[in-house]
Amino acid sequence: MHEIHYASYKENVNRRKVEDEWDEICERESDSGGGLYNHIRWIENGISDSYDEAQKRIENLDRGDYDQLAVKYKRFHENKTKGHQELIKKVNEAYEDFRKKSERLHYTPGNVTSSFVGCKNCGSKISVKHLKSNSCPVCHADLRPASTLKTIENAEKKWHMMAERLKKDTSKGKFDVLWLVKVEYHV
Ligand SMILES: [Zn+2]
Repeated sequence: MHEIHYASYKENVNRRKVEDEWDEICERESDSGGGLYNHIRWIENGISDSYDEAQKRIENLDRGDYDQLAVKYKRFHENKTKGHQELIKKVNEAYEDFRKKSERLHYTPGNVTSSFVGCKNCGSKISVKHLKSNSCPVCHADLRPASTLKTIENAEKKWHMMAERLKKDTSKGKFDVLWLVKVEYHV
């Protein structure tokens, strides 16, 4: 089994020490004995905007075969300004709105007057009483009307737009630079 660990360190961390620590852990836990199979590659250029982006970058740079990697990323300080907090709230609200709209069961005896719904994709007629989802039980096509799907799409767009605004606002704040180190060994 592959054991993959991620750990964050200060930008000026003693790299030799970090590697020594992981060598010890690897020696203790891995089935091969010995330390890490490769030295950690500390990638000097580029600073990712978040932990998640740093993780993605590591995945992209990974050469496989127990490549040990470290990249830099920004950890933003908590922004307590009213404007920023308001943006966070708006993103959460927009997400909730999208989630509710997309998960809502469209055809229920309470919501629609007809007792059957026709599938435009395969032509099946399905009893509303027995519909437990928004897709056709025969061909799995989405049964919801185009106008409903458009409403959901708009809600999703709004959520993404708000999230983008929040990201922009976050990027103006203060941050520390950290190393994200990935080590991998076999257990
Ligand atoms: Zn169908």
